[in-house]
Amino acid sequence: MDGYAVRRIDWDRDNTTAFDIIGESLAGHPFTGPLGPHQSVRVFTGAVVPPHADLVVLQERVRKATQTTVVFEPHNPDESFVRPVGHDITQGDIVAEAAEQISPFTVGTLAAAGINRVEVFEKPTIGVFSSGDELIDPGSPLAAGQIYDSNRVAVLQLLQSLPCRLVDLGRLPDEPNAVTEKLHTAAGEADLLITSGGVSVGDADFITSTIEQLGELAFWKLNLKPGKPLAFGKINGCYIFGLPGNPVSTIVTLLLLAKPTILHLCGATFAPPMRVQAKVQETVAHTKGRTEFQRGVLREVNGESWVHPTGDQSSNRLSTFHGANCLVEVPGTSGDLQRAQLVTVIPFSGLL
Ligand code: AMP
Ligand code: MG
Repeated sequence: MDGYAVRRIDWDRDNTTAFDIIGESLAGHPFTGPLGPHQSVRVFTGAVVPPHADLVVLQERVRKATQTTVVFEPHNPDESFVRPVGHDITQGDIVAEAAEQISPFTVGTLAAAGINRVEVFEKPTIGVFSSGDELIDPGSPLAAGQIYDSNRVAVLQLLQSLPCRLVDLGRLPDEPNAVTEKLHTAAGEADLLITSGGVSVGDADFITSTIEQLGELAFWKLNLKPGKPLAFGKINGCYIFGLPGNPVSTIVTLLLLAKPTILHLCGATFAPPMRVQAKVQETVAHTKGRTEFQRGVLREVNGESWVHPTGDQSSNRLSTFHGANCLVEVPGTSGDLQRAQLVTVIPFSGLL
């Protein structure tokens, strides 16, 4: 604070008589001499208080000041207005854990500790494919039977904030030899591959069989909605997520499964996303069996958390993400949810 640095002992003994002003201390320009009895140094915010000074009397409390002396209003300061050395961080304090993702706060804290270089994990290379002969890039008109490829751009955008090297690998055709060749080459260059589509049981679904052929399939199919046909495996040391093709399934499984895996590859320790409890605003139809993640809008109404799903939750409907700010977790053991029933919600803020 702006004011006068004095010795607390002098202040407590007699703060009604004048203090001598023996110098000034500005931010970056310290006054270095010691402070004797009933002496003071004019100080400003950010300045070093001189040795022996342990109280700053605010300039607002000055009754009368000349160039050489100052008299204060008698009062009992409840604060010293001096920040002790080591108040923020002291020797031996941990400012960042190993395997902790470096945040803007960490960078600031490291800088405050004078550190401009830290050892980090190498950024993994993540390759992203889409798959399907019906797909074309947005921007040109559709021919009969075509749809726009939305998964690849969505996946690339969703991974943008991760500390990894993202490679857009284009599209895999629905042709087994081409899929084999492209996945083999990509696996040699990436640490983890993400594909979407081609993991169902159709005649044109070649991703799962190609993983089996080139490497090992760790698992295929999850008791999850959306996202049931997800395939996961490894090709020559490169992990591969065969995400389902329906756009909602692609995004939900990317957020819940692929993203934490990538973060783990980046060196981070897995931290589950924050979950909160909210009441459902309307009846939610759900068949027992698979855990379902619906897109929802979480709001606070009179101090209570309420959530409502964003309409028809079919897995082709990217529009269910519009306005959504969370996933609503409907457990596999649960039937329909009644209005005002408590449900677990994962805010997107913890997933994106
Ligand atoms: P698939 O598992 O390949 O049969 O894909 C399931 C559904 O998702 C199909 O209707 C596909 O047309 C659709 N789909 C697959 N990939 C994409 C994509 N990249 N963008 C938009 N829709 C897709
Ligand atoms: Mg397909």
